[in-house]
Amino acid sequence: MASLGLYLHIPFCAAICHYCNFNRFLLDDDLKRRYVPALAQEVLNAGAREAAAADGDVPVDTIYFGGGTPSLLEPVDVDRLLDACRRAFRVAGDAEVSLEANPESISVERLAGFRDAGVNRLSMGVQSFRDEELGRLGRLHSAQRADEAYALARSAGFDNISLDLMLWLPEQSLADWMQSVDHLITLGPEHASFYMLEVYPHSPLRELMARSRWSQAPDDDVAEMYLAALERLDAAGYEQYEISNVARGGRRARHNLKYWTDGEWLGFGCGAHSTRHGVRWKQVTSAAEYVSRIETGADLVIERRILSPQERLEERLFTGLRLSDGIDLAEVAREGGVDVWQRYGNDLSPHLDAGLLVREAERLRLTRQGMLLAHEVMAVFV
Ligand code: SF4
Repeated sequence: MASLGLYLHIPFCAAICHYCNFNRFLLDDDLKRRYVPALAQEVLNAGAREAAAADGDVPVDTIYFGGGTPSLLEPVDVDRLLDACRRAFRVAGDAEVSLEANPESISVERLAGFRDAGVNRLSMGVQSFRDEELGRLGRLHSAQRADEAYALARSAGFDNISLDLMLWLPEQSLADWMQSVDHLITLGPEHASFYMLEVYPHSPLRELMARSRWSQAPDDDVAEMYLAALERLDAAGYEQYEISNVARGGRRARHNLKYWTDGEWLGFGCGAHSTRHGVRWKQVTSAAEYVSRIETGADLVIERRILSPQERLEERLFTGLRLSDGIDLAEVAREGGVDVWQRYGNDLSPHLDAGLLVREAERLRLTRQGMLLAHEVMAVFV
């Protein structure tokens, strides 16, 4: 029986970063005070529904507090929410319990409280170890504050920490980027994620870039940034297991792996998505609307669709390609009844010839060069 993941969305942020496209709202203490009990209630309601279902005793092996800025929660809030998870679901004793934290919003007391509540993995949004880059992004913390926050997390006992970095920042050179990568390696987190900045059409960052005449490096340079970082991380003992993620000591992000391996999860909170029993749904995005719907017992779902067998197959193939292990063709044939090579071989072959893909026995995976052009290769499946 596959285990379930639980995702809890905490949409509040102390300030809105110039580039942000997530479902988040400026912190409103009154709304936050109503949001936490509403979220706990939603978890309990979902647990009751699961318990009533025929296969209702599915264990939960990952819980993820994402945002927004979950580290703006008080430890007592996190404790209340985790208590609701444990009361509503059969949470495994060794479950991975992750919480996203921003460097400016944590203190040693708060971190100790999160740990006491049961959080055992911290994912810290550092983005850069260079102050001028952090300033351009509108982040509230400095590089020094990120170092201090990391040290606080270690002293609070966290032995599973992930740091996020962003590349392709305005005015960022290869040397600038590698300075952040090297700094991260010096700190030595168990896990790291790195994302390319996407400048959305109506974001304040786009305007700022135009006004300040900031530009992003050309495509060839960003490819070099990506590859150089991975080489440096390889040499430091990190294993790349996904396009944007590396880990060492086997500390892959178990929750996120569910998204890439046809797993199932229940998402709680405003804007959260869930995938369960072949159905995907999305909840109302406004935090205020979410709270009022919980308080009045109204339906939270704004979109729901049953995934067709073809959609599930496509998703399994293109998310599988994100992983360094790639796709197990024999497994897809066994479980999905599809010979991938027969169906897609003609379209995949040019990518093999171009060195973007490799086929090793029953595995199909992207090369690093292929990871840079993943969207082109994945387009074969949709
Ligand atoms: S902290 Fe994260 S979620 Fe909040 S505004 Fe910044 S990027 Fe967006």
